[in-house]
Amino acid sequence: MELVPQGRCRWLLPRQGQMRVPGVVFATRSLLPAAVGDRSLDQVVNVACLPGIVDASYAMPDVHWGYGFPIGGVAATDIEDEGVVSPGGVGFDISCGVRLLVSQIHRNDLCGELGELMNALGRMIPRGTGPGGVLPRCSADELDDILVAGAAHLVARGMGTPDDLKRCESGGTMPGAGPEKVSTRARERGARQVGSLGSGNHFAEVQAVDQVLDPATAEAFGLRTGSVCVLVHCGSRGLGHQVCTDYVRLMDTAMHRYGIHVPDRQLACVPVPSAEGESYLAAMAAAANYGMANRQALTHAIREAFAAAGLGELVLLYDVSHNLAKIETHPVDSHLRTLCVHRKGATRAFPPHHPELPADLAPYGQPVLVPGSMGTASYVLVGVEASPAFHSACHGAGRVLSRHAAARHIPIEKLRSEMAAAGILVRGASTRGLVEEAPESYKDVDEVVRACHEAGLAKPVARLVPLGVVKG
Ligand code: 5GP
Ligand code: MN
Ligand code: MN
Repeated sequence: MELVPQGRCRWLLPRQGQMRVPGVVFATRSLLPAAVGDRSLDQVVNVACLPGIVDASYAMPDVHWGYGFPIGGVAATDIEDEGVVSPGGVGFDISCGVRLLVSQIHRNDLCGELGELMNALGRMIPRGTGPGGVLPRCSADELDDILVAGAAHLVARGMGTPDDLKRCESGGTMPGAGPEKVSTRARERGARQVGSLGSGNHFAEVQAVDQVLDPATAEAFGLRTGSVCVLVHCGSRGLGHQVCTDYVRLMDTAMHRYGIHVPDRQLACVPVPSAEGESYLAAMAAAANYGMANRQALTHAIREAFAAAGLGELVLLYDVSHNLAKIETHPVDSHLRTLCVHRKGATRAFPPHHPELPADLAPYGQPVLVPGSMGTASYVLVGVEASPAFHSACHGAGRVLSRHAAARHIPIEKLRSEMAAAGILVRGASTRGLVEEAPESYKDVDEVVRACHEAGLAKPVARLVPLGVVKG
């Protein structure tokens, strides 16, 4: 595969074959082999063939192999010029995302109490693949409310504050949701899982700020050296998964009616302004609302655990999805165009003064939350002006080992002793789940964040380190 260097941390995959636009990969030189090795760059090339795609098919520095689209992929299609929407460009965990809760506590004030806090969090946070959530069982009406209003519904029923909603992408409610476009099967799967982590890559992690990298922004975000925070990562559970499954199936047959041919069936797609496209976006918005409500319900449980331990309040810094397609306007060839921006394993990173930002964050830009792994650092970044890739940045460190390879190669005893030696407390994971998520399974997050910074995607604000983690 030909990769042409194009400036700092930017590589071009020139157009060839069916590609309508080039591919662009943001990475340091040392991050490239992992991306080449797992064939995710072939997926970047395939995405470049989608009808209506503009500018380029982008790969973030944490790119790795995914279903159809790579994880860490960003692709925007022009909805007035054949642009398509593809469920594979959003992923199975619709609106999987992260939120960061910031406390007033310094890590030194926590030392004796960390074990008790982790025990309480372990007890109060539902997790695993099956049913069970902070809301034990939703009625059909309540599920409708969640699908329409998202986190705002949970705040209305007392699980959170109006200030929380200001700190959520889209105010905690993604507009345009169509609960009637969500299948009965998806609703059944979702009704018993509101307020639950799900499987092993999802977590609630107690962290401390280790380094402040942009003092003015960190201060505005409430982040000081030593500040204790909780990073929550989860998505839309079985409901979102079923929505994706349903619409991949639908589009796989429908796309031929629109004369669409894609190099990989997993890229199944239809025009945005088609009956199937509109139904998918309405169902996806409903699942996104479920995802935001899920993180809000978990926040309620986490706040109760903090309050019970006498550790005070947790302020929501920001909640942002990293698996979503959104209709946004961006300049393309110096014309404003209405685009369907697919971010799959990529975080929206709006610049300072963007109209969607809450007033108190607007001077600084949108917080971009980047988990690393349970044994390494995580980061808070902020969106910047003139960033390439439709204001998007990485969403994590990104895998270097598949789940399967990690389970085969990483001895559990070694992992447990490394976590114990680092003083990081782990609660609630199966042995298999733990090794799949071992720090060795992921790229070097410091390097990934450096690549984001140097490529002009986002600016680092603070580096956080784990103290204890509840794993899904
Ligand atoms: P994904 O959404 O692709 O499943 O995961 C996003 C990112 O979360 C991964 O790329 C990885 O860097 C990070 N991650 C996975 N497990 C953990 C964890 O236990 N703690 C932290 N801080 N990050 C994690
Ligand atoms: Mn997820
Ligand atoms: Mn995720």
